Amino acid sequence: MLDILISGGIHPDYQKEQMVQNDIGIKDGKVVEIGHITSDAKKIIDARGQIVSPGFIDIHMHEEDFIHEGEKFVIAEMMLKMGVTTCLGGNCGVQHQNLELFKNTINKIGGSPVNYLMLVGYNSFRNKIGVNTYTKADKEQQKKLLEIMKQEIDEGAYGFSFGIEYDPGMDVDEIMNILGNFNDKNLLVSVHYRSDSTKAIHAIKEMISIADKSHMKFQISHLSSCSAMGQMKEALDLINHEIEKNPKINYDTYPYSAFSTEIGSTVFDDGCFETWGKSYDSILLTDGAFKNKFCDKNLFEKIRKENPEMLVVAFVMNEDEIAEAIANPYGMIASDGIINNGNGHPRAAGTFPRVLGKYVREDKVISLLDALRKITLEPAKRLELSTKGQVFEGCDADITIFNPETIKDGADFSDLNIPPVGLGYVIVNGIIAVDHNNIINNQAGRFISYK
Ligand SMILES: [Zn+2]
Repeated sequence: MLDILISGGIHPDYQKEQMVQNDIGIKDGKVVEIGHITSDAKKIIDARGQIVSPGFIDIHMHEEDFIHEGEKFVIAEMMLKMGVTTCLGGNCGVQHQNLELFKNTINKIGGSPVNYLMLVGYNSFRNKIGVNTYTKADKEQQKKLLEIMKQEIDEGAYGFSFGIEYDPGMDVDEIMNILGNFNDKNLLVSVHYRSDSTKAIHAIKEMISIADKSHMKFQISHLSSCSAMGQMKEALDLINHEIEKNPKINYDTYPYSAFSTEIGSTVFDDGCFETWGKSYDSILLTDGAFKNKFCDKNLFEKIRKENPEMLVVAFVMNEDEIAEAIANPYGMIASDGIINNGNGHPRAAGTFPRVLGKYVREDKVISLLDALRKITLEPAKRLELSTKGQVFEGCDADITIFNPETIKDGADFSDLNIPPVGLGYVIVNGIIAVDHNNIINNQAGRFISYK
């Protein structure tokens, strides 16, 4: 007796490079049968006309802050409700709590809405030990940081993330003094560039130099917010050329023409608006009395001073360049979702339905098969998750079922809580976690250690 039989749906077959129709049988957390299935099942899902995708894998998001926001899941539930079954936190150099605390909290709660993997976020620890944002860490500080990095890798981190832009005092030498001490070439290094827009190409070249020196798997983070300001063609030419020489390099990108970060961040240091050719009115506030208000100079300066941790949204990118980054043969699509105090950018709640609705169905920027590959198989391979990212007998039963004719993001810049349209079921480790926008199990996921 199967636990779940998904009958008549269409799933991607990446080997045959086509969508194929099959029944899928699930038992004890695994896919155990594929084909024409006659076995009985405790639960039958009629998936005719639906896509039965491997659960979406978000290789770039920002995990919960259990210390400041309580021991509950906020962003992981948003992820689950948009079809994500596995995600990677700790990106952009930002890690809200050390791995031991993160794991213990998930265990204490009794499981997580999605499967969680983590990177160690270098900047968070750099700030914690008191290194100045604008200066390089000295020898003693670098030694301390190396010890912390080793400890976090031992705790099960999948690799490292660096947010160069957030602490511009760090240089390639400081980063290599960390990475040079690790021999495992399968660790992932994810880097948020030094600067965007007119300085994007220079910043990408700096990242490539780290990739070449480290010999590790290397992820350029959210390419669109770096170079969708007029530099995308040049950026993609450069990156594609490098990937062909060094396949360990890749990038992720999100499907929105606005970025989001804390208003107190170095991203908004003097000169940013001149560089973007934009003004204060391109900045949307997301919290408190000013939620959903665009800035003027006074309001921008007031909030930056009084509430530097407020997330804001910056409408400074070009839509056609967002599409170019999505359509490129290389690259993955990820959310970069980040939530503070329940607020943030809709990418945390709408990225994957938006790709499948807007970029696949409406704008025809990318085929369904290629889009699915960029949100399932590619990130799974990147993270060495050999039993995830594609549907085969023996794979983990992480499955997302959606209607290709209707799927669409719901969350927008004024309300993150509008659910996506067209998502049927989300199955995590063989357990139905979402049934048509309703979370019915938010503890089916687990923390996955690298080692
Ligand atoms: Zn970032």
